[in-house]
Amino acid sequence: MLIDILSLFPEFFSSPFNVSIIKRAIENNILKIRQVDIRDFSKDKHKKVDERPFGGGPGMVMTPQPLFDAIRSVKDKKSHVIYLSPQGKPLSSAILKRLAKLEHMVLVCGHYEGIDQRVIESEVDEEISIGDYVLTNGCIASLALIDAVSRFIPNVLGNESAALLDTFENSRFEGPQYTRPEIFEDMNVPEVLLSGNHSKIEDFKTKSAIEKMKKVRPDMYFKYLLQLKQKKHLLKKS
Ligand code: SAM
Repeated sequence: MLIDILSLFPEFFSSPFNVSIIKRAIENNILKIRQVDIRDFSKDKHKKVDERPFGGGPGMVMTPQPLFDAIRSVKDKKSHVIYLSPQGKPLSSAILKRLAKLEHMVLVCGHYEGIDQRVIESEVDEEISIGDYVLTNGCIASLALIDAVSRFIPNVLGNESAALLDTFENSRFEGPQYTRPEIFEDMNVPEVLLSGNHSKIEDFKTKSAIEKMKKVRPDMYFKYLLQLKQKKHLLKKS
């Protein structure tokens, strides 16, 4: 997948893409990530990219000209342009799986009070939010999206099937994880995990995961219950 990141801070990305799984994906030519500095496209003699908002209000807004030109410099028929925005669709596992199939993703990172609405209406295919809070700019959001989407691109993770057991797959949390040593500061690993009894281990992990999900994410828990009910209903019918 080719990813173009359009931002005012290309240097922000140098270290995150130089470590671990993303670094390996780039080295193996699974991901190609290019940085585009929006300021380079400003036709203003001082390379200005922001102006005060029409109609008043606090802060500055990113002007359309540099953004239009920057997006058009990388965009072709196969491109999918995403504006990272707190007003976008909440990023989810389902959205990530859809995005993982793209050939070319263009990520537009806003700054200040955001970008001129005409850019969104004319050049952006989709707005995506990484959560119900406001960041100072879109770089962190882009980074989160790239990291999460790469897990669904074949051959990026060493162990592909692991991603399918992770939290949010099958509408639930993953169970608790333990590793060596068996006893650490008087805390034991639950005995069942050492028993070798795979069905008991599975039961333990599922129960623990569901209990935690019920406590911290009642919204997910109720959806999970609903899905279970629907599955049982379908099984009865067939
Ligand atoms: N004034 C805007 C509003 O209230 O909707 C917020 C602008 S924010 C300070 C600056 C930039 O950060 C946005 O243009 C966007 O690119 C990015 N951003 C902030 N919060 C985000 C979020 N939750 N998800 C994705 N991008 C976000």
